[in-house]
Amino acid sequence: MSVDAVYRKHLFNIPDDEIYLDGNSLGALPRDAARRAQEVIESEWGNELIRAWNTADWISLPQKVGDQIARLIGVPEGSVATGDTLSIKVFQALAAALKMRPDRRVILSDNGNFPTDLYMAQGLIDTIGKDHELRIPAPEDVADAITEEVAVVLLTEVDYRTGRKHDMVEITARAHKAGAVMIWDLAHSAGAMPVDLVGCNAELAVGCTYKYLNGGPGAPAFIYVRPDIVEQVRPALAGWMGHAAPFAMELAYRPMMSTERMRVGTPPIVQLALLEKALHVWDGVDIKDVRAASITLSELFISEVEARCPQLQLASPRNAEDRGSQVSFAFDNGYAAMQALIDRGVIGDFRAPDIMRFGFTPLYLNEDDVIEAAKTIETVMSNRLWSDPKYQARSKVT
Ligand SMILES: *Cc1c(COP(=O)(O)O)cnc(C)c1O
Repeated sequence: MSVDAVYRKHLFNIPDDEIYLDGNSLGALPRDAARRAQEVIESEWGNELIRAWNTADWISLPQKVGDQIARLIGVPEGSVATGDTLSIKVFQALAAALKMRPDRRVILSDNGNFPTDLYMAQGLIDTIGKDHELRIPAPEDVADAITEEVAVVLLTEVDYRTGRKHDMVEITARAHKAGAVMIWDLAHSAGAMPVDLVGCNAELAVGCTYKYLNGGPGAPAFIYVRPDIVEQVRPALAGWMGHAAPFAMELAYRPMMSTERMRVGTPPIVQLALLEKALHVWDGVDIKDVRAASITLSELFISEVEARCPQLQLASPRNAEDRGSQVSFAFDNGYAAMQALIDRGVIGDFRAPDIMRFGFTPLYLNEDDVIEAAKTIETVMSNRLWSDPKYQARSKVT
């Protein structure tokens, strides 16, 4: 499988002298999406004003975008709702799951999960004021921690720091055997690899669209509800946009009879329109080919970096099948080293305490980029360029 099959960098706006290895954190800008955002602002909002909800069909955008995402994560049309942030979607999914298992008290996640997922779980527990409990064993121990006390298992398939991948089919089967509800966070999966939500039969899944899906900073999140359980899912955030008839202005809440009940308030139209366009870069792309190309690129990266930089310690699983679409290296001066790299046009990022993180997005990266990046890393490491004082001060965002 050649990486050229999915390579379409011309569709993106990426500065010529930069190699962008951070599409796992903030995807690059699709050129058409920028034009579309401009058009929505100036022509639709500017000229149509409030009529645009109907004349430009803004009102259908959340569902339309949900269907585009559904295709990329292999679930049926109508089963994905969009809006809000991933943190909010995690809260909604957890609240729905707890209501589905009223006799159980444990939310199970793992200590490799992205902190906001854990904070939202803790915040929900504090809000409902019952004797619920959040348990966070190590990722490798989580399957064995699924007992019959567990109401819901909330896991992120791909670890944001190391790229380590959970086995969705196996863990979901364990959860269901114990009678627990399964929620998958696909933040680092959607747009990076095939997702087998249907195969594993998980009840709920959530994810964001500004990473591999290139929806731009703050792009709306998504939530999947397995179609057969939609009517059991009671929205904790019962907003009017999830109401069966929002413009009937009824005084009592009545949820929509679809996943759309997970919507809350007025959708972010500019950002959704941008995302809708951004998702067209996937037209004609088979996500299996993206995965194959991502493995080719990340294997090449590991072998090049290890051959050139003995100072760096691989922090990701060595076996490609056990990783998502990122490769991480541990290095004590990782923050400064990453700043030195960014200064030289190789853009990755840093996660505390010592992880240098590099994402692989085959839509706009190829083997030449990977080798070029490895050479720059070698220059920074072998000349200790990271020791320059200007690279030591930490910015707010790392
Ligand atoms: C990126 C990421 C988030 C971010 O949540 P926001 O609410 O969109 O800021 C949450 N969870 C996981 C697992 C992530 O990777």
